[in-house]
Amino acid sequence: FVVKGCQKIGGPQIRNLLEAKDFFLFDCDGVIWHGEKAVSGAPAVVNSLIRRGKNVFFVTNNCTRPRESYVHKFSRLGFTDVILEQIFSSSYCSALYLRDVVKVRGQVFVIGCDGLRRELQEAGIPCVEEANDPDATIYDCPLAADVKAVLVGHDDKMTFLKLAKASCYLRDPECVFLATDNDPWHPLSGGRILPGSGSLTAALEVASGRKATVIGKPSRFMFECISSQFSGVDPAQCLMVGDRLEVDMLFGSNCGLDTMLTLTGVSQIEEAQEYRDSELTSNHSFVPDYVVDTIADFLPAFEE
Ligand code: PLP
Ligand code: CA
Repeated sequence: FVVKGCQKIGGPQIRNLLEAKDFFLFDCDGVIWHGEKAVSGAPAVVNSLIRRGKNVFFVTNNCTRPRESYVHKFSRLGFTDVILEQIFSSSYCSALYLRDVVKVRGQVFVIGCDGLRRELQEAGIPCVEEANDPDATIYDCPLAADVKAVLVGHDDKMTFLKLAKASCYLRDPECVFLATDNDPWHPLSGGRILPGSGSLTAALEVASGRKATVIGKPSRFMFECISSQFSGVDPAQCLMVGDRLEVDMLFGSNCGLDTMLTLTGVSQIEEAQEYRDSELTSNHSFVPDYVVDTIADFLPAFEE
């Protein structure tokens, strides 16, 4: 018996797949860029898909920038046809969740970068102002009375005091506990890694004895944001392209989308094959339907 998945495709198979699908969801880091550098050929692929009338969306767990700043990044890296409405970041979707699902009345305590706070402000969600008091301690720092949600994301200025305050707010069972994403770490150059939001969420989960609701991939919410803003988004017509099995392939699988792993990022094909051959059926949700070396392999499909 042969388990499906991990089909390495090229040439005509890619062309057929691109013709068959109407909606393309791209993860960003590891798929279309590495930090500040575009993956070679990726801008041409994205621009060609858009010019051919395909619906292209970007689903990124990077919560450190507001969408506005992604628009500039896309344009700077040569993705000239990308507009704000195509970008679904975990910061933007967290703001939508707080506004439209939680319908939060009161303030949000944010562990995260300024970009996350900016995105919340844009959605009209009030955040607790960080007091700039270097002498404040966990014993006497003031706590706001009307905090109705705690949102944790990547925070390069994380402190023990923030962790302590967030834990106190979460003592109130009515206070909602959200995480922008649960990514464990991200690759940096030279073999270094950047601890991800998931590492901070884990600390707060232990301290509070609670589990966060995750907004970003692999949760379905980002896909729900896309389908609520664009009509006719049929999962069967979508292809999710990502570089991380436990995040992107699981996201696609959770949303009922065909999935493609590109080998320009975190996960290797051997890991995907191991999941495919695993007896644990829950591991099969990490298995991509298709594998390509890079999305630049799409390029010949656009040549007449
Ligand atoms: N969060 C942070 C802080 C990151 O730096 C990155 C990647 O660089 C990500 C999340 C992952 O982003 P993506 O979902 O686009 O791979
Ligand atoms: Ca990625």
